[in-house]
Amino acid sequence: MGKNGRLVIISGPSGSGKTSICKKLTKNPEIRQSVSYTTREPREGERNGIEYCFIEKSEFDKLIREGKFIEYAEYCGYLYGTPVEPIREAIDNEKLFILAIDVKGALQVMDKMSEAISIFIMAPDDKTLKLRLKKRLTDDDAAINERFMVAKEEMEYSKYYDYCVINDNLDDAVKEIEGILELSD
Ligand code: 5GP
Repeated sequence: MGKNGRLVIISGPSGSGKTSICKKLTKNPEIRQSVSYTTREPREGERNGIEYCFIEKSEFDKLIREGKFIEYAEYCGYLYGTPVEPIREAIDNEKLFILAIDVKGALQVMDKMSEAISIFIMAPDDKTLKLRLKKRLTDDDAAINERFMVAKEEMEYSKYYDYCVINDNLDDAVKEIEGILELSD
């Protein structure tokens, strides 16, 4: 990587609170977050190019062929991928760059960039996790159950991460991560 930018991988199942944590972290102007490509439909309120770049499967396949992703993975039937170019830019600009990606993608990035710092976020327990998934109300029951099962499987991967943070209280979890990343207020 050369320069002083840092790459931070943040994973955690749906309902772990990963998205809220990343939103808080990126209030710091020195921290940027990667915008992934995905083939899933936008949820209400999601904007193209902001939360994700929403594309068709054929476009996604083309980007794979062109080598535009540092990693990509299928999650609950949809494809998600991280573009490589913004990572280079962020590192060159000495920024801290967050990839909020699933465990399969995270392992690919750990493999390619051993200097990346990896953090796994967990809900405090199963009951809280399921409650958080239900509260979203953006997915139907079948989707919620699928995500719960996937979450349980994802938890098995936490052992591969440098740090594990339990998100019981959002502000405390953010503080813990800021401590890990040695960020001052
Ligand atoms: P969601 O559909 O709920 O936004 O995201 C589903 C899962 O895909 C989450 O675990 C999220 O972190 C992950 N994800 C988002 N972007 C990427 C990506 O670029 N690559 C990979 N491998 N996973 C991603």
